[in-house]
Amino acid sequence: MVTYMEQNTIKKEVRFRGKALQTGRVVNAVCTPAGPDTGIVFKRTDLSDEPAACLSDAVFSSGHARRSTIGAGAASVQTVEHFLAALWALEIDNMLVEIDGAELPALDGSAMGFYEPLKETGTEPQGRPRRFIKIPEPERVEEGGCSLSVFPDEAFSVSYLIDHDVASIGREVFSIRPDRDSFEKEIAPARTYCLKREAEALLRAGLGQGADLENTLVMDDDGPVGTSLRFSNEPVRHKVLDLIGDLYMLGRPVIGRFVAEKSGHSLNGKMVKRIYEKYVAGR
Ligand SMILES: [Zn+2]
Repeated sequence: MVTYMEQNTIKKEVRFRGKALQTGRVVNAVCTPAGPDTGIVFKRTDLSDEPAACLSDAVFSSGHARRSTIGAGAASVQTVEHFLAALWALEIDNMLVEIDGAELPALDGSAMGFYEPLKETGTEPQGRPRRFIKIPEPERVEEGGCSLSVFPDEAFSVSYLIDHDVASIGREVFSIRPDRDSFEKEIAPARTYCLKREAEALLRAGLGQGADLENTLVMDDDGPVGTSLRFSNEPVRHKVLDLIGDLYMLGRPVIGRFVAEKSGHSLNGKMVKRIYEKYVAGR
């Protein structure tokens, strides 16, 4: 059952600054409170006409290589997923995010760098009901041996399986019905990862220019290069974090039981589009 809950914004301004994961450029993001029914609005202050994109308006275009992008054309902002997962956990519905670049800062590669300052600042209820998407029938998207399904349920939950041909990861499964506390303890600290054999190819493709051994787990057979794991199954927890963030591109929480088998941003994006077209567009 969905009980009445109010929309929330943040109590005051919160700033983030750091290297962007893919481009390596230092970016600043300034988050400020916004009125009820505004949504999460990203504004690119580095561009002359400061184009803006609002989350619930089908501006998502998840599916680029290894990160999720919202917005269209000049107004786009990429690598939004860890930030959006923090907003999901803190139940933030309305906020202006002014950013002076095309990508959010990587911070430590997890959601903690966004979650903690926003939590500390606190949220303000706004006297209007939150809008949810309650999934009424099963949906499934798949590609290349990977799949993502959702089934009707009374709460949001995720069960995720990854299977990498690297001794330190292999097959990992993680299931959670996350709330704010369990998100903070079990999901938010899990960092971005890649396989060591992929790392050079990613750099050659111009991705991961801001990656370092602290904000990205470079996994080889023995474990992460140059750092240690925060959880024995940190990679699969990070995939749950990515899915939570990708789903919040819809601008409102989804209620349903998600089952992911080796899904990633591309497949997550297909599911987001499916849910948007069926349950959000024109409503
Ligand atoms: Zn991620």
